[in-house]
Amino acid sequence: MKIIICFPPLSNEKGYPTLGQNRQFQYFKEPTYIYPVVPATAATMLAKRGFDVVWLDCISQNLSSDKFRDIIRKEKPDLVALETKTPVIKQEWRVVDDLKRLAREEGWNLNVVLFGDHVTALPQESFDNCGVDFILTGGDYDFLLLNLCNFLKEFPSLPARDFNGPVMTGPYRLEPGIWYRAGNEIKNTGTFKLDHDLNSLPFIDRDLTRWPLYAYKNGNYRRTPGTYIMSARDCWWGKCTFCGWTTIYPHYRARGVKNVLNEIEYLVNNYKIKEIMDDSGTFPVGEWLNNFCRGMIERGLNKKVTLDCNMRFGAVDRPGYELMRKAGFRFLLFGLESASQQTLDRINKNLKAETIVSSCRAARAAGLYPHITLMFGYPWESYEDAEKTLQLGKYLLKKDYAYTMQATVVIPYPGTPLFDECKKNGLLYTLDWQEYDMKKPVMKLSFAPDKLMSLVQSMYAVTFSPEFIFRKLLSIRDINDIKYFGRGFLKVLGHLLDFRKRS
Ligand code: SF4
Repeated sequence: MKIIICFPPLSNEKGYPTLGQNRQFQYFKEPTYIYPVVPATAATMLAKRGFDVVWLDCISQNLSSDKFRDIIRKEKPDLVALETKTPVIKQEWRVVDDLKRLAREEGWNLNVVLFGDHVTALPQESFDNCGVDFILTGGDYDFLLLNLCNFLKEFPSLPARDFNGPVMTGPYRLEPGIWYRAGNEIKNTGTFKLDHDLNSLPFIDRDLTRWPLYAYKNGNYRRTPGTYIMSARDCWWGKCTFCGWTTIYPHYRARGVKNVLNEIEYLVNNYKIKEIMDDSGTFPVGEWLNNFCRGMIERGLNKKVTLDCNMRFGAVDRPGYELMRKAGFRFLLFGLESASQQTLDRINKNLKAETIVSSCRAARAAGLYPHITLMFGYPWESYEDAEKTLQLGKYLLKKDYAYTMQATVVIPYPGTPLFDECKKNGLLYTLDWQEYDMKKPVMKLSFAPDKLMSLVQSMYAVTFSPEFIFRKLLSIRDINDIKYFGRGFLKVLGHLLDFRKRS
């Protein structure tokens, strides 16, 4: 049975879509390719079970629609699986229908599968809008895809897709969370579960999933080749109301420390990887983190590879940051979200505004490189509230408590509590999913949207302040720093030009 896991070519006039990123979606002007960790794990699991797997990422491979069709026509897969996100779901419905039409015209049987947070929140919508055969809901879609493929291999000609029979209880039983067509009806196998053991997962087959595609063009890396892993799914806090993955897939699990260290060692020894970004929503902390750091040092991996991760303010103290630095950590990505305590409380961030400065300063003092992400466009915030967030961001950057930053428009993705709140209270400008791409607000504001976009833009302008440039020049240690700043500078310029063009 041949399976293609693919990211089809998508209209790129807005930039390069970050489909493999778990929680937020953006188009980037400069190519930024994030390793799609869960689909890559799915490809690995299927290949290990003897399926013929093709990895086809048309975005990072820069393949046209014609080329994509040629490859599908030549391979004639039995099943194509695609990861989806809200802003591109409409484009993907068209891709699904094109694929089904092509297979029909050329006379082979093709099943198309969608997975991801958008279709988990709204599975019926995709059945209504395209000819998709299966939807996998929940965040363990690597486990579910293997389960579905085992089932289809065993029962290739089950009549009318009536899966609700004795097979539901046998060894090839379909797991909960799978939606499918049964004649004219849409059925499902129940609510998805997130109880799979992450330690049972194989390490991603980096060759099968074409690791060099994701090893260089990524602004987070200071040294290349870089790659991604996930130590946990997804964030041990997991309650921020805007956060897609964590609220839609609300069950946190971490892999064992030894298992993660083994994967890092494998990547360093076999692929000469120099920097690894862990894409768990928030990296595990407490005893797990201490043991992990000690393991990195004992194995000497801290001298060979640099680590980056997502972290929460206040989760680690100064000695903890120092241990992280010794263990090889460099870049810590913190969600600052807002300077307003009312907003932090309302989005359930579980963070005191004053902790932001002290925790950021402690991380920087320990020699780490905090990256802060700021969000603008909460419907309840005044212009003055948003300006305070801007001032806090600028302060952290100018003081060198934060090293780099990112400013975005907050987007309420379907399935999140923030989306439900906005929908209930009539706070959404639009339900056209294409608009949910962070290019402009989709929630109603108490001030003009263009004032918001100017605020976002002025955050980037701090990059050109003499104080900021002076500190960056002082921090240059080697050629990697110069290249890193060059890439960062181009990225900021891309943002600014993009905003200017739109305004
Ligand atoms: S801290 Fe909040 S925003 Fe960050 S990953 Fe966890 S739930 Fe999501």
